[in-house]
Order: sequence, then C-alpha cells, then structure tokens
Amino acid sequence: MKKKIYHGPLNLDEVAQALAGFFNRGALSAQLSRANNQAFVQIVTRNIGHSGGRTSLGVALRQVEDRLEVEVGKQAVLGIAASLGATALLALRNPLNLLGRLDDVAQDFENLELDDQVWELVDRLAADAGASHEFTERLKRLTCDYCRVANPVGEGRCLACGAPLGDVQPFTCSNCGNVVLGNEKQCPNCGYKLD
Ligand SMILES: [Zn+2]
Ligand SMILES: [Zn+2]
Repeated sequence: MKKKIYHGPLNLDEVAQALAGFFNRGALSAQLSRANNQAFVQIVTRNIGHSGGRTSLGVALRQVEDRLEVEVGKQAVLGIAASLGATALLALRNPLNLLGRLDDVAQDFENLELDDQVWELVDRLAADAGASHEFTERLKRLTCDYCRVANPVGEGRCLACGAPLGDVQPFTCSNCGNVVLGNEKQCPNCGYKLD
C-alpha cells in the first residue's frame, strides 16, 4: 500500500524524526527534510561494504488539521520531495521518548521488507498516540442542512428536526483511513472492498 491516513493526535515531527532515527542504522541511512506541514524521509542503503543492490525508499508525510497522511514510494513522493525545495536537512534533535525504544522495535522488524518496516513503525506510533484509521470525534459529526444541528455520522435523519441527512454520508476505509462516501463499494485509495 502506498498511502495511509491516520486520524487523531499523531504528530508530524515525532513520526518524521522517529522514522529518520529508526532507519539511520546499520546498512541504512536516512535523511529528513521538513517544510511547513510536510516532511520527507529518504532512506537509502549506504554504498560502502554493501554487496546487495542499493535500495532507496521515500516516505512523505503531510499534516492536515487532525490527520496525518503518510505516503511510501519511490515515484509518488518525488513531487513532494521537490516541492520541499532546498529546505535545510535537519540534524536529528534530542531523542524523543519514541526513539528510546526503537532498538527494541528494530529487532522485531528485522525480517520485514523496508516498506513494511515503515508501516509497522508508523502503525505503532499511531497506536501509541491514539490515532487510527477512523474519524476523529470532530469529524464523526454531520451537520443538518436545515437546522444546523450536528448529528453522528450514520444517522439517517436529523435527531433534532427529522430532516433526511442523505445517503452519501462519509466514513473511513478501515484498511487505509481514507475518507470514502457511503455509496462507494471500493476504497479509491487502496482498493479495499467496503461493506
Ligand atoms: Zn435538523
Ligand atoms: Zn482504503
């Protein structure tokens, strides 16, 4: 999967720095670029003493209100990397709490492909922070067009005035967190079959 959306209190800088810190070890090297609400972590294998091929993986992160979008890929992220321009590459700051545990985590991940390691790590950080692929409380509400009362997503009629709330209510894909509409059968982001 290339892109996942985490809804809730997941901090861009913490995730970006954890990724950069985690992948800056052994045969790998990671560089972090940061601008505005975006960050980009480029992970490459070092050339010295490495017999296998060079791999390179980019992770782009974007914070939009109360969600964090994470995209992994080689091609897909190049545009975002370029748009970050000549921003200074940050030296890693003091380790956060998260970074203190990364060595343990690394052991668990040893057998996974690089991109799976990225997702495992981000999923753990998200779980720790209380973020998920589900809507945040703020977004779980749908405002009635008639009386402006906020209703829980999924209600057929407004709880206050009884007006129909429509059948195109949004929800999130449980696989990637993408916001999808009630009449969609498949997630447009990851292709997951929706109930
Ligand atoms: Zn109403
Ligand atoms: Zn999806």
